[in-house]
Amino acid sequence: MPVIIDGARIARELRARVAAEVAEFVAEHGWAPGLATVLVGEDPASEVYVRNKRRLAGEAGMKDLHRHLDASASTDDVADVIRVLAEDDAVSGILLQLPLPGSMSSASLIDLIPPGKDVDGLTTASAGRLARGAEGFRPCTPSGVMALIDSTGVELNGAVAVVVGRSELVGGPTARLLLDRNATVTIAHSHTRDLAAVTSRADVLVVAAGRAGLIGGEHVKPGAVVIDVGIARTPDGLVGDVRFEEVRRTAGWITPVPGGVGPMTIAMLLQNTLRAARLREHPDAGWAG
Ligand code: NAD
Repeated sequence: MPVIIDGARIARELRARVAAEVAEFVAEHGWAPGLATVLVGEDPASEVYVRNKRRLAGEAGMKDLHRHLDASASTDDVADVIRVLAEDDAVSGILLQLPLPGSMSSASLIDLIPPGKDVDGLTTASAGRLARGAEGFRPCTPSGVMALIDSTGVELNGAVAVVVGRSELVGGPTARLLLDRNATVTIAHSHTRDLAAVTSRADVLVVAAGRAGLIGGEHVKPGAVVIDVGIARTPDGLVGDVRFEEVRRTAGWITPVPGGVGPMTIAMLLQNTLRAARLREHPDAGWAG
């Protein structure tokens, strides 16, 4: 039977470490890191995500600098809010919650976030820094995936890693982070022929396709590390992209859904926000702009 990777516990431990470091930061500098979550509209799932981010930031000793705009807000209204937050010294990190309502385009708004406050790691500048292997903020979900893989103790150097999904938010950056750790990386996506032939070579398999139950036993090499990023709401509750009960018979390590990658995303956001606050105290890190 595989080891079930307890993302909830690993995330809790990481948040406790961040909270202890925030307390030290406050004692040393006299101010607390501030997280500005920006929510536009009333999407119920986004409201839950933002509420959790704010609550856990508060529990870690950070300042909650949330901004809510209603669904009738224009792109210019959202841009104005982000520009003010970008200039505000109390704001260490800015997170624009996606998706935005209607036809509002997220890319130009995200790019108003200065690199040093981009705690979600999604600006073009941060993506470029990741692509070049330069210092910068990495997106939270891919960072969480890496932390879960590291928790297994499996050596990434030289390992065969397969990422299913090539989105800008998850699959793409995860593949890059695996490459930075010297894994031999393949990215599978919706045009991949014979998915099982590709994925069953993986020592480390990360699945971020957003297709519930896509991955079964035939897709997984015996003993592999399987990280399931997918989340789908079904009448039976949350499910991932991996058929857990089936794959657990083959895998060496596997993440559950819920309780795997999900909790890690917020823990990484808090870690990035603390780092952003430190950057303000040490602006010699020129890249943070
Ligand atoms: P996306 O829709 O932007 O990208 C999905 C990717 O999967 C695409 O690259 C597509 O080519 C690929 N794909 C789709 N069907 C496929 C198939 N049959 N075979 C192979 N590849 C296929 O989604 P995303 O934003 O990357 O999110 C992926 C999943 O991760 C979703 O379920 C999302 O809810 C979840 N997610 C979870 C967290 C978390 O914190 N746990 C965070 C972000 C996203």
